[in-house]
Amino acid sequence: MATLVRVCGIVGYVGHRPALDVVVNGLKRLEYRGYDSAGVAIGTGEHLAMERKAGRLANLEAQLDAVGRARFAGTSGMGHTRWATHGAPVDRNSHPHSDTAGVIAVVHNGIIENFAELRAELESRGVEMASDTDTETTAHLIALAYTEGETKADLAASVRAVARRLEGAFTLVITHAEVPDLVVAARRSSPLVVGVGAGEHFVASDVAAFIEHTREAVELGQDQVVTITRDGYAVTDFHGEPASAKPFTVSWDLACAEKGGHEYFMLKEIEEQPEALANTMRGHFGNGRVLLDEQRISEQDLRDVDKVYVVACGSAYHSGLVAKYAIEHWCRLPVEVELASEFRYRDPVLDRDTLVVAVSQSGETADTLEAIRHARSQKARVLAVCNTNGAQIPRESDAVLYTHAGPEIGVASTKAFLAQIAANFLVGLALAQARGTKYPDEVAREFAELEAIPDAVRRVLSTVEEMRALGRRLADSKAVLFLGRHVGFPVALEGALKLKELAYMHAEGFAAGELKHGPIALIEDGLPVVVVMPSPKGRATLHGKLLSNISEVQARGARTIVVAEEGDERVRPFADHLIEIPAVATLLQPLVATVPLQVFSAEIARTRGYDVDKPRNLAKSVTVE
Ligand code: GLU
Repeated sequence: MATLVRVCGIVGYVGHRPALDVVVNGLKRLEYRGYDSAGVAIGTGEHLAMERKAGRLANLEAQLDAVGRARFAGTSGMGHTRWATHGAPVDRNSHPHSDTAGVIAVVHNGIIENFAELRAELESRGVEMASDTDTETTAHLIALAYTEGETKADLAASVRAVARRLEGAFTLVITHAEVPDLVVAARRSSPLVVGVGAGEHFVASDVAAFIEHTREAVELGQDQVVTITRDGYAVTDFHGEPASAKPFTVSWDLACAEKGGHEYFMLKEIEEQPEALANTMRGHFGNGRVLLDEQRISEQDLRDVDKVYVVACGSAYHSGLVAKYAIEHWCRLPVEVELASEFRYRDPVLDRDTLVVAVSQSGETADTLEAIRHARSQKARVLAVCNTNGAQIPRESDAVLYTHAGPEIGVASTKAFLAQIAANFLVGLALAQARGTKYPDEVAREFAELEAIPDAVRRVLSTVEEMRALGRRLADSKAVLFLGRHVGFPVALEGALKLKELAYMHAEGFAAGELKHGPIALIEDGLPVVVVMPSPKGRATLHGKLLSNISEVQARGARTIVVAEEGDERVRPFADHLIEIPAVATLLQPLVATVPLQVFSAEIARTRGYDVDKPRNLAKSVTVE
């Protein structure tokens, strides 16, 4: 993952509750996105009460207490958590930003690429900047538009006029001291959703910010401006023409966005995996057919696909590696799996018969977004697998399959990863049915196997205590290796990634057959080696080969932790520690085999005293390349 991130959170509110509470609670729900400073602006009816502070939200809250929360009485306002891109993360660069008169407040997510020109223009008109941000220019420009010309005294029109001049990616939320019951927002290539309540409306970076108040939401389109008031919302394009935006109902509720008695979100999310899988599959099979969520691509075009690229980063990339085994086997189509950050710089061979499957939990991953833009410019079709309604990647795709894993707050992916694997399988089945490489009854049988997985995962979860104990015992290890073959290979990679992310421990995953070509030199006395065994029934030959690989590492002193199918008696003598998982269809094994590895890494991290939800240097959605 990149360490340079632009994530940030935005909340805007107009309604009947104390806006400060709504906004601060909303920001708390967006904290998981990562940030370095925070601020609020509340319309009191007379002026804008603003406060902003570098550091955690707790700093802002302490500041609000110090100045007295009574100053922030009002029922409209907005808040921001910033991830600095222009100007250091200090108080004066924190959002909201204001115009010289202090009547306008702006919060912004993204980068205004032409801000230097705009700043020069403003300075030539005598405007003095109070911060080093790109954002502040927009506050001054909107203030000027509001006081002159055709846009005079019309906040939405002023915002539109300024939005038309901006280059780059932005979500802007604006409020004016004189019109406290109105919040205006504009979006281009950055996330923004509207929340629709009774006598109250919200805008936010994601629905988590308002889920405790309403599950009714509206997805904004590219280059749209929305105004919210107590009683409604209105959407236009940047020229003021009415525009349509897509309403949706959020399928999860507040409990999903809270820890619910768990020490960490990640531990809760590991336990939610059976539900996440069941929800991802629900509704995707009807009348004997696998169904996508959105399909703007014809059946004929799906039939014509002659090559598939799965493009993704991090864990999502590993889900793609699993998909390769399934799609090639089911559809007889060549599949390549590519790291999104490499894809477009490599001049991949793409045409209109290429299907690019873009997998991204957030739907905001910059590397993946740029990859699909490149793919589309080469006429390839794009199918998004994504966990967030209305995010940029699904919006720019020809077809979408949503993973309904619910919000994933732990930075290291768990339930979203399993849901991605399941969704990728559905994509494989959809292709197999379109191409006729599987008969309808075969598709139905595969789907039924998938539907049985949540129960299998439940069984794994009921037996992970042993893996936890092992994590505690091995927490001092210098390194851990992970080996697998066939679909067990991506599981090994994912196991190693989890350990790196959470426990900051050196870990590597290898295809077990590669061992003898180099990595075996790493084996030394006592080194823990986790081995993911294929089913002795499904992949008998591979099973035998992996047993030989285990002997090779054991002979060199490794301590073996073997994840194997229940009843696999042959593997016993090879395992210093045996972790049993239920027998499932060969291709589906990653959905059960990954779970003990997640638990293992989380336990090692906890034993080492690390924050499992927020590993150092990482952010949940990486929205810069
Ligand atoms: N570019 C803006 C800044 O550096 C916004 C960053 C963000 O998205 O939080 O203040």
